[in-house]
Amino acid sequence: MEKHVSHQEKVGSYMDTLARVLSWAYRKIDAIDARMLLQHVLQVNHAYLITHPEEPVSALQAGAFSTLVLRRESGTPVAYLTGERAFYDQTFKVTPAVLVPRPETELLVDLALETMTEKDRPYRVLDLGTGSGAIAIVIAKHRPQANVVAVDLSNDALSVAQWNASNLGANNVRLIQGSWYEPLGADEKFDLIVSNPPYVAEHDPHLQQGDLRFEPSIALSTGENGLACLRHIIAEAPAYLVDGGRLLVEHGYDQSAICQRLMERAEFEDIKVHKDLVGIERVCNGRYFM
Ligand code: GLN
Repeated sequence: MEKHVSHQEKVGSYMDTLARVLSWAYRKIDAIDARMLLQHVLQVNHAYLITHPEEPVSALQAGAFSTLVLRRESGTPVAYLTGERAFYDQTFKVTPAVLVPRPETELLVDLALETMTEKDRPYRVLDLGTGSGAIAIVIAKHRPQANVVAVDLSNDALSVAQWNASNLGANNVRLIQGSWYEPLGADEKFDLIVSNPPYVAEHDPHLQQGDLRFEPSIALSTGENGLACLRHIIAEAPAYLVDGGRLLVEHGYDQSAICQRLMERAEFEDIKVHKDLVGIERVCNGRYFM
């Protein structure tokens, strides 16, 4: 008698709940990733997920979630699965055409904003290799009087950046297609140049591991042992800076000394390096005086 389970109870007991689908996912992928994917499918926030463990999940939702979990399990970055990533104080659309914005790059934004002390000054800012537009758009939002020019070689990346600029109401960002300084006028000068260029060496084994495998190599890696883009950006920067203008570049974990040397060679002064959240030297910062 007690062994008998009615059909109704069976359906009830096997119905998916938030807690059940999550515990299935936890055995396959990172717990934070699992939560982000379920939040995306259900369009709820983290707090809702945690406070409603018994909430039923429809077959359709469970199916959509399990597809995402399996794609994550085979390596696709969470941001490409959800189509978005929080960076600084904004949320950006991301697609496989752009690098996923990283928390360490928020340092570059912090340093840029620190140098722009006069909130109402129409600073001219250049972002080279803008990708999703994350750096340029956050700067533009925090300094609405600034004029931000953001350059990228990839038209697909620029459409993502354009979508983000419009969606986030950053009207003071101008997006241009081209290679680094090439699309700029010869007499265009900026108060500040920022860049998070590709800096991973082309044959770095990390490119074949984890999330990096799914990101555009054009945004990640470059020749000369990862230094080709940094060399070009640093060497050419003085021609596009006003007197006393500043250059801020993100670089790899072992490229701090060489970036400082490249800045010295390009006659930058007041050169400083800054450590990221985990204590790795990540941003090189210099000023150029004519
Ligand atoms: N910091 C990234 C990584 O190594 C690389 C980003 C870049 O090349 N700008 O994962």
